Amino acid sequence: MIDEETEDEDDASSPSTNHHGQERESASKTDDLSPCYKMSSSSIGGFGLFAARPISQGALVFAETPLLTQPLSPTRTNSSILNVLAQRTREEQCAFFALSNAHKTERPGRPVLLPALGIFETNALPCGSTLPPASGDTGEAKTSGSKDAKAGKADHGGREGIFLRAARLNHSCRPNVWRTWDVSSQEMTFRALRDIAQDEELCMNYADVDILGTREERAAEIEKAFGFVCACEVCELKGKEGKDSDRRRADIKRLFEEIGTCSKEPTLGLRKVSIAMRLLKEEQVMHYEASFCFDAFQFCVMVSDFVNAKAWVKKAWEASCDTMGPESPAAHTFKLYWANPRAHPLAGTLPHMTLSGPDGDEKAVDDTPPRGTTVVTRVTRIS
Ligand SMILES: [Zn+2]
Repeated sequence: MIDEETEDEDDASSPSTNHHGQERESASKTDDLSPCYKMSSSSIGGFGLFAARPISQGALVFAETPLLTQPLSPTRTNSSILNVLAQRTREEQCAFFALSNAHKTERPGRPVLLPALGIFETNALPCGSTLPPASGDTGEAKTSGSKDAKAGKADHGGREGIFLRAARLNHSCRPNVWRTWDVSSQEMTFRALRDIAQDEELCMNYADVDILGTREERAAEIEKAFGFVCACEVCELKGKEGKDSDRRRADIKRLFEEIGTCSKEPTLGLRKVSIAMRLLKEEQVMHYEASFCFDAFQFCVMVSDFVNAKAWVKKAWEASCDTMGPESPAAHTFKLYWANPRAHPLAGTLPHMTLSGPDGDEKAVDDTPPRGTTVVTRVTRIS
């Protein structure tokens, strides 16, 4: 089916004929088969992984299968971990026991754990079920209102695992690597969130750390779960810069929630998305971009603005390719809606209206206020 709007679309035309899309898919794979990372001592702490060569945004840094997985706490025990470890090679067992353990000494509210359990609790990453995904668990992108879904913490079936290589990645509250559990391959994939220079340290955000919290909140979480003081570039910010960072993250978090309540107010919802997109860029936490873009897409389809809907879902697709990979369920979903935005169940559920596309705030260089009440052109501050 050819939309009448398609004639006006350049960047957001059909995904099957879009060259950007094909380039993105191939750019998401590493051409050089040698590892693009190396292990070295880190100024953040202990050993870390570093870029062995420049890594492009969206490139697969590595994929890893878990050494072992366990059900969520408190079902797992030291014995249940040792039982699985007994089936691994001697070398793997040694590598496991060489990992850091934040539960060796007693800290307020945190008792000492037996070694295997302590190491597991310190290093485990959510990785879903080792069983085939249940019917209905398509991994489809979540919509508004769920911070966990936006933070990549969707329920994958309640298992956590140890990944020996990934355990060498240090934490940053501004990560440059994003991890995604690939249900079909049963691997954890790690992709570059932005272009990474040679010798730059590769950092992810550790499980259970809400990186949209303030520095104080993050410090408390990190100290409680991992027993160290975060020395990442954001936590090291002082004075006004530090306060600005805290404020931006708090605003992004608030917008997550507020956008979820805007289903009857698409103009307002889209204005909040525009603000959030600007804050993400300023704070360099772009891994939330796909979720916000998909929210914007939904606002546009509600009012039958399919031109801007396509532009938004195309951007969501690009962002999901960079974080979760072009073969991820979310990327597939976004690509389908890019081809046919009318297929979305919310399409046409509100009166027709023209909203704005993702480039609206970039094209405008002045603070021109919105024209009229139904068209969003640019929003520069939170009301
Ligand atoms: Zn930090």
